[in-house]
Amino acid sequence: TPLAELIASIAVDIPDFPEPGVVFRDLTPVFADASAFRQVAEALAGSVLEDPRGAALRTGPDDPGFDVVVGVEARGFLLAAAVAVVAGTGVVPVRKAGKLPRSTVSADYTLEYGTATLELHTDSITPGQRVLVVDDVLATGGTLEAAIGLVERVGGVVTSVSVVIELPALGGRQRVAPHTVHALWTT
Ligand code: IMP
Repeated sequence: TPLAELIASIAVDIPDFPEPGVVFRDLTPVFADASAFRQVAEALAGSVLEDPRGAALRTGPDDPGFDVVVGVEARGFLLAAAVAVVAGTGVVPVRKAGKLPRSTVSADYTLEYGTATLELHTDSITPGQRVLVVDDVLATGGTLEAAIGLVERVGGVVTSVSVVIELPALGGRQRVAPHTVHALWTT
């Protein structure tokens, strides 16, 4: 698609970051480009309507198909805030352990090396609210799997899971199933 080509032309591949043998896809130049960033935000918001679940829960032509956007610390915050403004919804952060001040639910998940913990304020989502979960990159899927689990534990209904870049070789899509992942660029 034209947007995938635009993202591919602006994102930068960084060999051997954060360690030897890994190619890191740096999306910060896409965020810094006014036109590309707006198009990314609009496409992530619009992806909900392509999701059978999201489309089915839509109440009318002015309804974006979700009530709130969840973004995962830290680059997911940048995207989630933009998507929320585009769609006219609020935004809720999923954060690394120890950052949220009130009562939280938490999930441990595996990273390539070791484990990490994500947290969500227990009362940040009203049971039954429709939630769009966004992040910048889908790699192994562990991060999004944990974030989705937190949203569901507090009663949220995940209507779509959307990322800018999917790295399909790492199997993240399978890990996040049965939720469908919408990726603007699969590489
Ligand atoms: P996963 O849990 O293995 O799917 O890793 C996804 C998380 O790691 C996301 O929150 C991304 O921000 C980050 N990540 C993994 N690979 C990359 C990359 O190549 N570029 C930018 N972020 C990445």
